[in-house]
Order: sequence, then C-alpha cells, then structure tokens
Amino acid sequence: MKIRTNYPGSSIDIIEEKENRIIVSPKLEGKKYSNYYNFIVSNDDKEGIIVLKNINNQQYNAEAIPLVGNIKGNYIKLDKSRYEVNEDSLEITVKPNEEFEVSSYPRYTKENLDAFLSTIDSNEVTINSRALKEIIIGDKEKEAVFIIGRQHPGETLSSYFIEGVINSIIDNKLYDNKCFVIYPIVNEQGVEDGNHRFTLGYDYNRMWNTKGVIEEIDHIKSQMEDFKVKTFIDVHCDEVTKQDYIRTKEEDIKNLVDNIQVLADQSQLKRFVRALVKQRKIINVFDKTAREYVQDKYGCESILIELSLSNIDREERYNLGYSFISKMMGATKDETHINSRKR
Ligand SMILES: [Zn+2]
Repeated sequence: MKIRTNYPGSSIDIIEEKENRIIVSPKLEGKKYSNYYNFIVSNDDKEGIIVLKNINNQQYNAEAIPLVGNIKGNYIKLDKSRYEVNEDSLEITVKPNEEFEVSSYPRYTKENLDAFLSTIDSNEVTINSRALKEIIIGDKEKEAVFIIGRQHPGETLSSYFIEGVINSIIDNKLYDNKCFVIYPIVNEQGVEDGNHRFTLGYDYNRMWNTKGVIEEIDHIKSQMEDFKVKTFIDVHCDEVTKQDYIRTKEEDIKNLVDNIQVLADQSQLKRFVRALVKQRKIINVFDKTAREYVQDKYGCESILIELSLSNIDREERYNLGYSFISKMMGATKDETHINSRKR
C-alpha cells in the first residue's frame, strides 16, 4: 500500500509506514492540526488500513469524516462500513488493489480554475495573470464589484460558488451597468501546498493593513485604486456551521437576496467570543479583515459569504453563486437558464 502526495492541493504527514498499515496526520498549522488534508492511496493485493491521527485536535472542532474521490474528481462521504473512529484517530479500510483519493473537502486548485476559465467564451471578459488570476468583466468606468475567494486555501467550496457567479454575470449580462473584478484564488501558494488557513504563518484575511508582505493583496489593493469600488464580496467557508449564510449590514441587499440566509454583521466582541467558544482560539479582532479594510477605505457596501463545509455539494454551491449574484444585482429572471453543469 502506498500514499501519494506529489500533486497540487495534496497535504498529509506520513508518521509511520508499514506494509499494509500506514499512520498519517493532517499537517500542523500553528499549534493545531489542519482541517484540510488530501492524499491518494493505492493498494496492492492485501487489505490495508490507513490510520488518520489527530482528528480531535484540528483547528476547528468539526466532524471529520473523510471524502473519497474517484478518478473523475467526484467526491462522496466515505461509507460507514469503511471506517472506525477511535479516541483521536480514524481507521480507514483499503481493499486489495483499490486506489482512491482521501480528502477532508473537495480538492480545487489553480488547475481546476484554469480549466474552468478556458470554457469562457465572451468578449466582455479579460483574464489577467499577474500576481494572481484576475478576471475583469465589463467596462471599468462603471461602478465596480470586487469579488475574492480562497484567502483561506482550504475553503474549497467557495470556488464552485465563484464559478457560478462568473457564469451568471456573463449569461445574464449583469455587466451592462457594472464592472466585475474577480480574484477566485487569492492565496495561490496555500492552495498549491494544501494549507487550510495559513500560508507561511500568515492569515491573509488579517493582512490587508500591511504592504510589501503579501504580493496578491498588494496587487488587489492597487487595482482598487483604478476602479470605482461600489461593492466588495469576500467568499469563505465555515467549518462548524451547518448552513450557508451571508453577513452584511446593507438593507437593500437583504431585500434582494432570498436564496441564502442573511445574518446581521457581527460586532468585534461577538467575533471574539465566537472564535473562543467554537474554534477554541483567541483571535486578534483588531487586525482588520479584508472587508473591514475595503469598507473603511472606500465607504462601499460589503458582503461576507460563508458556505458550510459540512455540506460538500459542489453543484449546489455553483447554483447558489449563479442565482445569488443575479438576485443581488436585481436581475431575477435567472432561474430559467441556470446552465447546470455535470461535475
Ligand atoms: Zn475563511
């Protein structure tokens, strides 16, 4: 039996390797183990066991049932008959001659993004690759909507949401009176390396007040200077919560969007308490998030989107992104022509 990690978005530490029993662990990020892990196991002709350790000491206290992926990139939750949960580990049975991907969340890397972008066929779309992939749709003299995702690399479901957003903007011609500037993967290095929240110790969402440290954030900030920033949308995923939600303080957005629950903005104190209780960590709430930074600088509206990582349905997030953006832009005729795609 062998474990493979030589591809983008893979991430696991191999602790002990015996012929048909391999002990692995999610990588450490700070003092806790990452909620993101991904590897491929391929077996010889004897049954094998993968022991996944340290699942009770991850950054976020979430249910840790792995997904298995097949060659086509489909993921399903590992069947109950195939694993056993012990004190701090999960033991996965691998049948003779099996090969499959084991992953906490669906893997989505720059290769997936490039494959998606290659399907776009519209004169309204400009794709740049400087510090990071940048997609501009529409006329830059119009009010701009900036959309970013994957500041936290392990929050992979946000990428399917953003694919839906991009296709909806094009299909429904939402660029007629707006310009969209989209950065689907802000933390490219972290996505390549299979990190969950941090890259080189940095939480990108707390780095917006710095300069010269994170090239991608510097680039986005300098681009904003050249556009009329009206709206900022930051797409994330939530490890703990079971439902998708958005946070905003804009009443008109709350009225337009009805396909996802809209919660009020959290105060810094509430964020602090929530982090302490749910994530068992102390956060410095006085480092501004991307949203707080952009909102303060441009006086624009801002939206935080949080997709639950306990629901791994990618198609659902694609469709949610597709209908969310057209509802938000006040174009509601979208439902009839969602270009639902097989994945
Ligand atoms: Zn996040």
